[in-house]
Order: sequence, then C-alpha cells, then structure tokens
Amino acid sequence: MNQVDKFCPSCAAALEIKEVFGQQRPMCPDCGRVIFYDPKVAVLCIVPRDGQVLMMRRATDLGYGLWGLPGGYVDRGEVVEKAAAREVWEETGLVVETGDLIGLFSEPGDPVMVAVYEAKETGGTMEAGPEALEVGFFSIDALPELAFPRDQEVLAKWQLINNNG
Ligand SMILES: [Zn+2]
Repeated sequence: MNQVDKFCPSCAAALEIKEVFGQQRPMCPDCGRVIFYDPKVAVLCIVPRDGQVLMMRRATDLGYGLWGLPGGYVDRGEVVEKAAAREVWEETGLVVETGDLIGLFSEPGDPVMVAVYEAKETGGTMEAGPEALEVGFFSIDALPELAFPRDQEVLAKWQLINNNG
C-alpha cells in the first residue's frame, strides 16, 4: 500500500490505517471515508514509418536523456485515444490518428498502467516538444538506449501482432 495522505480530504481528521476490502487502506475515524489509491493511466504510441518507429529522447527527470516511445498520462475525463494523439503531437510535432490497441501493460506494485496504441501519421512537422530533447525514427533492431525496458516488450508484442495479421 502506498500511503501518502495523512488527513481526511472530507473532514481533515487524521487518517488511520484499517483493513478494508482485503487491503490496508487509510480510513477516517471521524466520518468513515476510506481513501482508495486508484491506478493511473498512461498511453504510449507506436508510430511506424518506412519500417522504423517514432522515438523521443526524454527531457523530463525520469529517464532524462534516454529514449522512449512517445506518450504520457491520460487526464481524468479525457478520451484515451485522444490523449494518445495529443501526447504524440506535444512531444514530436507529428499529427497522428490513433489506431488499434496493442495492449494494456501493468506490473505488480506499479500504480501506472500503460495503454499502447498503434498510430498513423496524418500530418505535422517532426520537431521535439518541450518534454523531448530530440525525436526520430529508429529500426526496432537498432533502438537507442531506452529509459524503460517495457518499450522493448511493447514493440515485441506489436511485431508479433503484425506478423500474425
Ligand atoms: Zn473524515
């Protein structure tokens, strides 16, 4: 359990840890509110061009200077496919149309689950956005140094789907 809150968001009483629905969770002794830590949803896009895929070199703290598939967090209330296209545009300047869901990736203990889509270029001009140092297309067997090993697994699944389709 990842407890981060000390006080009840409803009545500001100090939270206590209780077992609720089979897990230790923060609970308010005054108003009875239970704090549930929901998963966070992120999206990644695989944008192919001439046998290569679009990658960005990260300009953010996590994995700074290393490469990854373009993507980011989905805002609450945002349509996931739209978030995927928005992230690609913000990070790489390319306009894409979100296509098939390749998979939903999650790991034990990790609050972030990642929805991976294939996306097709429809326009724009490739240019690194504020969260990218550089952007480019790479062959899957000659990828630059990755920030997250999961990208490798994601691309392997995408190749498998393409070969079977
Ligand atoms: Zn309370």
